[in-house]
Amino acid sequence: MIDIDHNQLNQIELRDLLVTSDKVAHVQVGNNLEHALLVLTKTGYTSIPVLNPRFQLQGFVSMTLILDSILGLKRIEFERLETMKVEEVMNQNVPRVSMKKSVLKVINAMINHPFLCVENEDGIFEGILTRRNLLKSLRRQSIILPKESFQ
Ligand code: AMP
Repeated sequence: MIDIDHNQLNQIELRDLLVTSDKVAHVQVGNNLEHALLVLTKTGYTSIPVLNPRFQLQGFVSMTLILDSILGLKRIEFERLETMKVEEVMNQNVPRVSMKKSVLKVINAMINHPFLCVENEDGIFEGILTRRNLLKSLRRQSIILPKESFQ
């Protein structure tokens, strides 16, 4: 049985887990699907946030959403990538979290989502919290794995 100290968990600062917006690959609502596919392919991420020109979060777009939207009856209609816009295919049900949330709530939300988007009070996109950063923080604090197990 793994015994996790909740006090130790609550000491984790969400700000330390944040990938700040300047380091987050994103696309704009008005970009075409060809551009979005290019960004996804080049970065290697399966899904990325979609923002409007005011840097407000509108949704997320993924490789699967794009390919599904150009799937014809007999073939994938690649020519549609140029004419279709990100806003037509994005998923608006984007997992959001406030920096005021507790770490336990964030961990719970991350069970179903590989990343959570963070916005400030004005709805401006601040960045994302990722599973990788969370796991790294848990390891750093020896919460999930004792440091000796890496030596
Ligand atoms: P990770 O926990 O680092 O594997 O990241 C989980 C997911 O978060 C990735 O599959 C991406 O969808 C997203 N992600 C992580 N880092 C970035 C980034 N710098 N820019 C855009 N999306 C990211």
